[in-house]
Amino acid sequence: AAPLVVARSTAIAAKRGLLIRNRASFEGARNLDAIVFDKTGTLTEGKFGITDIKMVESSEEEEVIRLAASLEAQSEHPIARGIFEEAEKRSIKLTEPENFQSITGKGLKGSVDGKRVMVVSPGYMEEERVSYDVDTYQKLSGEGKTVVFVLVEGELSAMIALADKVRESSKEAMKRLKELNIRAMMLTGDNKQVANWVAKNLDLDEVYAEVLPHQKADKINEVKEEGMRVAMTGDGVNDAPALANADLGIAVGAGTDVAMETADVILVKSNPNDVVSIIALSKATYRKMI
Ligand code: ADP
Ligand code: MG
Repeated sequence: AAPLVVARSTAIAAKRGLLIRNRASFEGARNLDAIVFDKTGTLTEGKFGITDIKMVESSEEEEVIRLAASLEAQSEHPIARGIFEEAEKRSIKLTEPENFQSITGKGLKGSVDGKRVMVVSPGYMEEERVSYDVDTYQKLSGEGKTVVFVLVEGELSAMIALADKVRESSKEAMKRLKELNIRAMMLTGDNKQVANWVAKNLDLDEVYAEVLPHQKADKINEVKEEGMRVAMTGDGVNDAPALANADLGIAVGAGTDVAMETADVILVKSNPNDVVSIIALSKATYRKMI
């Protein structure tokens, strides 16, 4: 009778928008100690809009947006969509870049109309020792905004700030995890200020910012080595290695194909509260069997 109960649960789950791809991991969901969440697109809506554009003298705003958006048109990242939509709003005509390349967890580069263009993270700026106005940067990121830098021919042209929204459902989910005594953690490639801003908003137990994709995967292993059973929840290509390492990998349905192919469970409704529903359903299913 046991497999029947499981089959029925799988069907019930599917109806509620939880696609179970790996039953063994689903069974383990009832014993989880910690859940790690990606930030962008998972705890937040992943819909960035540009809020501020800080030009470096001598560069022209429309031109900088045109160059940046021409590159970003090639990327699936939520930041990319935000910059691309700004160009659309202003009816700026884009060109197809040459030698387009994404720099994992740090941004993109390519050549637009013969100019070398890059859109990169603060971490990249630090590594390459490109200087920028730190006060402006701190002010923007202190407001919970994600800041990226546009470089043209290796020179800084502009700082672009984008804002995302914390999902309302994330707040509820974090509250319920607390009641279940499950640790809520966040891993993000975004900067520390933005990460702390979200963490405070959601009252998370632990936060790790400015982590590269392979570091997300390593962090999952560290949590496991501490003896915790851990789930990872994410939406991006950059979350896939961590989803694979976790005891339970949960992909947000609105996310990328790579995340969904790697996950054990898919949240069709992209609602973090459904992580709690998986735990409850796993408990209900496997209690009946014993
Ligand atoms: P997250 O963990 O929040 O999903 P990522 O690892 O995807 O973040 O990205 C980390 C950082 O790299 C971003 O905050 C941004 O600074 C930079 N970045 C990534 N992709 C892009 C892009 N398409 N355009 C500009 N910057 C990007
Ligand atoms: Mg993400």
